[in-house]
Amino acid sequence: MTASEPTIQILNSARAQFADLPPEAIIKTVALRSGLRFSKQALDGFAKQKAKSYFIFSFDHVTQDELSEQERHAVPEEIALTGGPWELKRTIVSVRVDPKSPLLIDVDDHGAPVLKIDDQLFAQVATQKIPDYYDCQLENGKPVSDITPTIEWGYLIYITAFRLCQYWGKKEECQFCDINENYRQQKKQRSYTGVKDPEQVVESLRLIEQSTNGSETMAYTVTGGSITTELNGLKECEFYARYAAAIESAFPGRWIGKAVVQALPLPEVQELKKSGYTIYHPNYEVWEKKLFEKICPGKESYVGWQEWMDRIVASAEVFGPENVIPNFVAGVEMAKPYGYQNVDEAIASTQSGLEYFMSKGISPRFTLWCPEPLTVLGKDNSAPPLEYFLKLLRVYRDTHSKYNLPVPPGYGPAGAGKAVFSVSAFMDVLGM
Ligand code: SF4
Repeated sequence: MTASEPTIQILNSARAQFADLPPEAIIKTVALRSGLRFSKQALDGFAKQKAKSYFIFSFDHVTQDELSEQERHAVPEEIALTGGPWELKRTIVSVRVDPKSPLLIDVDDHGAPVLKIDDQLFAQVATQKIPDYYDCQLENGKPVSDITPTIEWGYLIYITAFRLCQYWGKKEECQFCDINENYRQQKKQRSYTGVKDPEQVVESLRLIEQSTNGSETMAYTVTGGSITTELNGLKECEFYARYAAAIESAFPGRWIGKAVVQALPLPEVQELKKSGYTIYHPNYEVWEKKLFEKICPGKESYVGWQEWMDRIVASAEVFGPENVIPNFVAGVEMAKPYGYQNVDEAIASTQSGLEYFMSKGISPRFTLWCPEPLTVLGKDNSAPPLEYFLKLLRVYRDTHSKYNLPVPPGYGPAGAGKAVFSVSAFMDVLGM
C-alpha cells in the first residue's frame, strides 16, 4: 500500500477474502505492515502517555533523523484499537512510525485519538498512561524505560541485556536487522545502555514490583545480540544465564522467564535452563536453507542451517517442546534479491518449516517484517504484499490446530480482543 491507494477498499476486500480471520488480526497486520503516522494534535495528547522505548530494534520505516523531535519522544509504544465500522474488539498494536503511512492517528471533534484511513474514522484509539514505575530512576540516574521497559500493554518486561550484536557488518549481520545501527541512533536520543548489569536489572525490577502498575507484568524476556566469542569474559550462555540467575534469586518464580538467544549446544541450553528460564527462543529467522545462508550470513558461518535446526529440536529435551518457541521474521523470505517473488511459493516454504517444528510439538512464532531503512534489506525493499501476511496467519493457525498444540506460554491470552502480543497477529488467530 502507498499513501495514494484507496485503503478502505483494500481493507474491505481483504476482509471479504479472508473472512475466516478475525478482523482484529487483519487491521493489526495492516497497521504493522504500513506503519502509522501521527498528527501534531494526536501527539500533543500523548504527552502523558507511555512513549516508545525502542526496546531492541527501531521497527520504524524511517530513521530517527527523519522524525521530528516530538515524534521521536511522544509516539506511543502501542495503541489499542476498538470500534469503528468493523466494530473491532480491543486490538493492541506495536507502533512503527511511517510519516507517509495511509493510516493516520489523529483526534476527533472532541479531541479523542482515533485512527483515520482515507480521512474516515476507522477506530477509536487508546494508549497506556505512563506507568508509575517509569517515573522512577535507578540509583545511577538511569530510567526504568531503559533498563527494564515494558511492552504488550504491560504484560512483558523486555530486557535487552546487550544492545549490540557481535555479528558485525554486512557480511555477518542478519540482513533485516538494525540492532547495531539502531543502537547508534538511539544513543543520541535517550538513555540507552549497551550492556546492562544484572544487579541494575534487579534494581529496576524492584521499582516495577513496588509500583502500583507492577502487578500487570507477567513475564520477562532477556535478549540481545549474539556473542560469537566472549563479552566481559563470558560466553553467550554464561552472559545471558546471569540475568535469570539474578532475577530468580531476588524474585523466585515471580515472572515467566524467557531467553531469546542463539541456538546453542545442548550443555549450554541446560545451563540456561538451570539459571531459571522456562522458555527458550532460538530464533531461526527464515526457514528455507538457501535463504538462511544469504539472509543470516553470521548464523550460517558460525553455526550453519542444519546445526541450527538440529539444536532447536534437541533443546526440546531440556525445556520441553511447548517451551521452545523459535521466532521467524515473517515476510523476509520475499525480500529482494534472494527471496521468492510469488506469495504462494513463499507461504509453501514457510509452511514446511512450521510443519517440521509443529509435528515435533514445537510452536514457532513470528514477528512481522518491516524493511527498516538502516538494514541491508531495507534499502531496496518495500513490505511484502498484505495477501502474504494474511495467508501466513491462516497457515499458521491451521498447522497449529492440525497438531493440536497448546497456545504458546508466556504470551498472555490468545484470541481476538484478548491478545496482547503486539508485533504480529499470531496470538489473535489462536484460541478461537
Ligand atoms: S543474530 Fe541477527 S537478528 Fe539477532 S541481533 Fe544479531 S544480527 Fe540481529
